[in-house]
Amino acid sequence: MSIQLDALADLMKGVSAEELKASFFHHLKYSLGLFKAEVSTHDQYMALALAIRDRMVDRMMATEARYEAAGAKRLYYLSMEFLMGRSMGNNLINLGIYDQARAMAETLGLDLEEIRNSEVDAALGNGGLGRLAACFLDSLATLGMPGYGYGINYEYGLFKQEIANGYQEEKPDHWTEKGCPWMLERTNEACMIPLYGYIEHATDRSGEYNPMWMGWKILVGIPHDMPIVGYGGNTVNYLRLYSARSSENFDMRIFNEGDYLKAVEEKMTSETVSKVLYPKDSFEAGRELRLVQEYFFTACALRDITRRVEAKGLSFNALPDMVAIQLNDTHPSLAIAELMRFLVDEKGVPWESAWDITTRTFAFTNHTLLPEAMEKWPQPLFERVLPRHLQILDEINRRFLKKVALRWPNDPVRLQQMSLFEEGPHKQVRMAHLAMAGSHSINGVAELHTHLLKTKVVNDFYNMWPSRFNNKTNGVTQRRWLLKTNPRLADLITSRIGDAWITNLDHLRELEPYAEDAEFRQAFMATKLENKTKLAALINRRARVTVDPSSLFDIHAKRIHEYKRQLLNVMHIIHQYLCVVEDGEEPEVARTYVFAGKAAPGYWAAKQYIKLINNLARVINNDRRTRGLVKVAFIPNYRVSLAEKLIPAADLSEQISTAGMEASGTGNMKFAMNGALTIGTLDGANIEIREEVGKDNIIIFGLRAEQIENHRANQSYDPWDTYRRDVRVRRVVDTFNTDLFCPQEPGLFRWIFQTLLDQGDEYFHLADLPSYIEAQEKASRLFADQDTWARKAVLNVARIGKFSSDRTIRQYADEIWNIRGYETLSPGEEQGKG
Ligand SMILES: *Cc1c(COP(=O)(O)O)cnc(C)c1O
Repeated sequence: MSIQLDALADLMKGVSAEELKASFFHHLKYSLGLFKAEVSTHDQYMALALAIRDRMVDRMMATEARYEAAGAKRLYYLSMEFLMGRSMGNNLINLGIYDQARAMAETLGLDLEEIRNSEVDAALGNGGLGRLAACFLDSLATLGMPGYGYGINYEYGLFKQEIANGYQEEKPDHWTEKGCPWMLERTNEACMIPLYGYIEHATDRSGEYNPMWMGWKILVGIPHDMPIVGYGGNTVNYLRLYSARSSENFDMRIFNEGDYLKAVEEKMTSETVSKVLYPKDSFEAGRELRLVQEYFFTACALRDITRRVEAKGLSFNALPDMVAIQLNDTHPSLAIAELMRFLVDEKGVPWESAWDITTRTFAFTNHTLLPEAMEKWPQPLFERVLPRHLQILDEINRRFLKKVALRWPNDPVRLQQMSLFEEGPHKQVRMAHLAMAGSHSINGVAELHTHLLKTKVVNDFYNMWPSRFNNKTNGVTQRRWLLKTNPRLADLITSRIGDAWITNLDHLRELEPYAEDAEFRQAFMATKLENKTKLAALINRRARVTVDPSSLFDIHAKRIHEYKRQLLNVMHIIHQYLCVVEDGEEPEVARTYVFAGKAAPGYWAAKQYIKLINNLARVINNDRRTRGLVKVAFIPNYRVSLAEKLIPAADLSEQISTAGMEASGTGNMKFAMNGALTIGTLDGANIEIREEVGKDNIIIFGLRAEQIENHRANQSYDPWDTYRRDVRVRRVVDTFNTDLFCPQEPGLFRWIFQTLLDQGDEYFHLADLPSYIEAQEKASRLFADQDTWARKAVLNVARIGKFSSDRTIRQYADEIWNIRGYETLSPGEEQGKG
């Protein structure tokens, strides 16, 4: 039966406050089955979200028709993580109906902000990598480009963090408990994914070796689409997330054998595949479920991608002209082996052609410099889960090593280094090597990071294929991270230079002259103070600490990790505290130190840092001698919606990782975009931020990556040197040997003294502490002169244009994907076209 979908679509397309209200009531009644009297704030949220979604669905279909008509090449962004956060505010803004929604709420006596606050974050990611993917989706849609995210519809997102007695406790984040109104389940596009089983070595009719993958189990992938609306509302792409279900066909066999309970048990195990996001920033070895997750979603994505090509009746030789696939880190790189299996085994494409198609389709982004984060799988595990894919990897490797041997004859060490397999008592599959061998592009995420990849981390691969390597410095979307999150500053900017910056962040340069405009500076600092006042209330509610909004807000918000050096920040705070209580030296300006961040549940040292920060807060906040001078607060449960409240209120942005360890960072960009000054090391994108904002408008300290590398190579760093030489350092570090910050738990932080001195201080805290203290003093001096500070803060905003993810996506589109944006017509015009 064919029904008039267009007629249905027209029914509720309107976007006036009145039409929105009609649609809101429609959903309250017919989607939620509610009487007006019993409507909770969450019900209001659900109904409004559904009303908004209707408008997005119409545009999503129009967008699809536009791409289809143009025969557009499409980009598929494969990522284990999409850290979307909340959607309602963003969707309203991008659709251009925020004011209508607020007006509608007002006429009903409701509060739109309260409704928005009842949305739970979609926390389907750990941190930077997942948030980058989310920013990219916003930019792709805003640029009118056919780009789609593919990932896993985790039932449980990243754990919720609670603090008890200063310690982190993890609680499950059952974010979909009440349903996610944005998502469209598409059971009709389910796909079947085989795994496990064994290989039967057979020959075909012509006597060729023809292995058969037999006895597999089947997982079913159910796509759930979250529409992604670009700014202006003309383009709506989608994020497709797969849930795992058991296969009825497979269960039938057991059902028929009469073991009903066993069949249901099997069903339950299948469904654990999309149950929970692994809560780690970096790789954790040997977890079978994680390997299954990686294969599950990449195989689903490839079925979807290849189905489209087949539907057009085209040869697979056309694949690289029709699609580009970007691998967000190594997690989805099994897609390379899966495409080879599909082409060779299922479509009978000869190996050489299949490999050519594959490498021209895939591109790979590396995200880490930490060697322990390089993903590897034990070969026996890999073989058990994916027996046919292991054979394919063997063949890829055999051919690859032949080429290596041609390039470097008689160099067995090089062969060993570059092989897709790590030999030894426990043979392992190296996912990064697979990703690099199977891709035509390999990119880092900041200039320094790409340089280190080429010259250090994967130097052999760079020498083999120099032209494959390129840099794509990360960016963030200004729609979420300025327009939505900091409406006061956004309005101020627009009042002076217009709103072109919303879709072209380079326009912020037009603000530069306003740095010299006293009235503008005052208005700028007034918005900052309003944001700080709002955050002060939140700090009071969430951390039970009273803070002064006029003090310098020094904010360190990101995952807790030794290399990110929250400990260095802590040591400076201890230094400042001791200066007050022991030397009677008052700091130049009052400060509020704010921390937020989650530690991986199995990362003992990081969890100890959280305890240390909370104890430090308790001691300092309760000491009369520092009253009105220093406050410390740890705000629990860092996530996108909390970041949106912290970032607009920051004066100083802590970006103090050990040089050479942070690939890029994106938190650094968000803070500067909101007029915070960065105190940071020459690491990741901080280097490029300095180039843009100018060295007088950023506070840089510490060793450079090269110096750290030299110390490591020559083993020439001795933390005891600094300890003996610098009394400030000695006094701070000695407190870890006392119970000053752990009166209730004697000896709790002694381990820190030991790691810093006896165990070599792997992250160079002591080496950098003196210059960090001096950098912090400089920050205080600058802040004491509010006018000087305002000038610098304004210039940070004016010069941050480069760090829009729109710029990043344009570079990927031009230099890697070869895709473009499509003329966006207003919905009215499209209707006319019919
Ligand atoms: C931006 C962001 C990150 C990444 O922060 P870095 O400072 O780059 O590590 C992590 N988590 C959330 C919630 C973010 O918004």
